[in-house]
Amino acid sequence: MTDSYKDQHFATRAIRAGHHRTHEGEHSEPMFLTSSYVFDSAEQAAARFAGDEAGNIYSRFTNPTVRTFEERLASLEGGESAVATSSGMSAILSTFMALFSAGDHIVSSRSIFGTTRVLFDKYLAKFGIETDYVALTNLEAWQAAIKPNTKALFLETPSNPMNDVADLAALSALAKAHDCLLIVDNCFCTPALQQPLSFGADIVVHSATKYIDGQGRCIGGAVVGNSQLVGEEVYGFLRTAGPTMSAFNAWTFLKGLETLDLRMNAHSSSALILAKWLDEQPNVSQVFYAGLENHPQHELAKQQQSAFGGIIAFEVKGGKEGAWKLVNATQMVSITGNLGDTKTTLTHPATTTHGRLTEEARAEAGITDGLLRISVGLESIEDIQADLQRGLDKL
Ligand SMILES: *Cc1c(COP(=O)(O)O)cnc(C)c1O
Repeated sequence: MTDSYKDQHFATRAIRAGHHRTHEGEHSEPMFLTSSYVFDSAEQAAARFAGDEAGNIYSRFTNPTVRTFEERLASLEGGESAVATSSGMSAILSTFMALFSAGDHIVSSRSIFGTTRVLFDKYLAKFGIETDYVALTNLEAWQAAIKPNTKALFLETPSNPMNDVADLAALSALAKAHDCLLIVDNCFCTPALQQPLSFGADIVVHSATKYIDGQGRCIGGAVVGNSQLVGEEVYGFLRTAGPTMSAFNAWTFLKGLETLDLRMNAHSSSALILAKWLDEQPNVSQVFYAGLENHPQHELAKQQQSAFGGIIAFEVKGGKEGAWKLVNATQMVSITGNLGDTKTTLTHPATTTHGRLTEEARAEAGITDGLLRISVGLESIEDIQADLQRGLDKL
């Protein structure tokens, strides 16, 4: 795959990379809604199936619209290869099924998306892949958890919902020293704000459902890395097992990528204003946002990220009762578990996204009963503040 835009800037590649215009001269990327492809002759069909001739056969294997999305995302993350998947979870599943085997061991941050933890503990464990969990920011704990059969370190940074930031360069060095892969879920920042491969990560996984779509329409995911691990091995699993992305969803995500840079910067600047404002509210006991100078990894976040992203966690006074009062007093923001949308969303993690954790695991993750997570959308910041003010006034 040649990226003819590789010397261009991020915003340009996000708009133009990956589209190979057809003989119709279309300006916008075409949507190829076709499950299979026809051949000129029996000879050509045989050559395609034998792998002697490049080209499309069947959309579980390749689809031009999906390919455009993959090439564009690979370009944005700075990876040789990307494959698109039906969801963020299938991106993670496909990575682990393709690259690891029974008897392998994984060290994971304990601050990961809840369903990823279920995937590791309930399903990968069933196939003999064991996972141990450590605190994201404790480098000694990562080191101590590595065993002779450890094959990968897995993390999200910043973490959900507490916004802890991992030291990607240090963890990448640790992974290399122990012959492991560093796998980073880059959902919160997207390549617009952070490119983990440039800090030495081997693989980036995405839930495209969040900021890559950015407008809450489609479920999808992706895996990015080198052409061996991702282009051959993860791709091989995908075309065999089939959790591939549909052309329609790929087209929607392509449109999302075109505005990703603008949106992520707008989400980040609104979130920074809101975090500072929340920090001054008497009924807010603590704000967790890496853009605040009092955040323990503020300096690290400044080195690794070009901005701090759109997600803020904050704790209100009055525990669960206080948090629910605030949620119920809002009139505009959406009460939903999703994030990364133009619409601001508000979540009470302890009773929703993290409700299935034991009380002990929740405490370990810092998720108190008064904690709220807000995914700051692109509405006017004054209106978002006014809506939260309604809730804060009730406490
Ligand atoms: C949502 C999410 C996922 C899962 O993605 P789906 O598209 O819902 O399957 C994985 N990781 C993170 C960090 C997420 O926020």
